[in-house]
Amino acid sequence: MISTYHRPRTLDEALTLLTQPNTFPLGGGTLLSRATTDSVAVVDLQALGLDSIAAKGNDLEIGATCTLQVLLESEHCPAALKTALKLEAPLNIRNTATVAGTIVAADGRSTFVTMLLAMDGKITAISEQLSVSSGQSSVISAGEYLLTRPKGLITQITVPLNAKFAFEYVSKTPADKPIVCAALTQWNSGRARLTLGGYGKTPMLAMDGTEAEGIQEAARNAYHEAGDEWASAEYRMEMASVLARRALEALK
Ligand SMILES: Cc1cc2nc3c(=O)[nH]c(=O)nc-3n(C[C@H](O)[C@H](O)[C@H](O)COP(=O)(O)OP(=O)(O)OC[C@H]3O[C@@H](n4cnc5c(N)ncnc54)[C@H](O)[C@@H]3O)c2cc1C
Repeated sequence: MISTYHRPRTLDEALTLLTQPNTFPLGGGTLLSRATTDSVAVVDLQALGLDSIAAKGNDLEIGATCTLQVLLESEHCPAALKTALKLEAPLNIRNTATVAGTIVAADGRSTFVTMLLAMDGKITAISEQLSVSSGQSSVISAGEYLLTRPKGLITQITVPLNAKFAFEYVSKTPADKPIVCAALTQWNSGRARLTLGGYGKTPMLAMDGTEAEGIQEAARNAYHEAGDEWASAEYRMEMASVLARRALEALK
């Protein structure tokens, strides 16, 4: 339950508020505003101007409070990322949920974060101990972020545009979250980065190589323990291999 609500006008003000105990950043609030017995204070980020999307050189810079739907509708959003965003949540949720809130709340079934990880996306965050005026924000890869889940305020997500992207999935119905999904990025250098989603606490990096050789085997191996109530590990291994092949074919 949200017991205290702040709406700061500046990043410095937000960071100061976030140093208070039991106080959390509020993105779209679709998760934070759910009924719970815990009482929390929230710092609403909507007045901070962190909702822009801009293509800069070879990168797409996405503000932390940009909604999933605004990103999906952006002319700069690659088609594979659009597919992943559509599967992340229904339209009403996409209209409210922010990219940063979705990353923080993500588990292994997050299609958006599976694609973000394949794109080797970068996350800019400011530690709540620091003042924004000191300029001490840090940029870490989405992979490192998911491993360490550091505290702090996310301000921006950056993804490359100078590569080819694919997203393939299997699910019970077309609108369901996938049981297995595979996201692939291939750069001009030949570097191929494959991630898998649909299982566990976080999407998984299956391969990051100088070329796509062995991609199906890498996909199969990555999911050798990926069994749960939705599907057996054997099924996911088989599907991961098939989806990796389809993703590679989609890039041609
Ligand atoms: C009816 C309903 C259906 C849903 N369906 C789905 C679904 O199908 N799939 C799914 O995955 N989820 C679903 N959700 C959960 C939720 O919508 C998603 O996790 C959502 O993407 C969270 O984004 P948000 O911006 O609303 O986050 P919030 O609720 O605002 O915050 C979520 C977490 O992120 C933190 N946070 C927010 N912004 C920042 C920031 N800039 N820096 C650091 N931390 C931050 C918050 O403190 C909080 O811990 C659903 C929720 C509802 C209410």
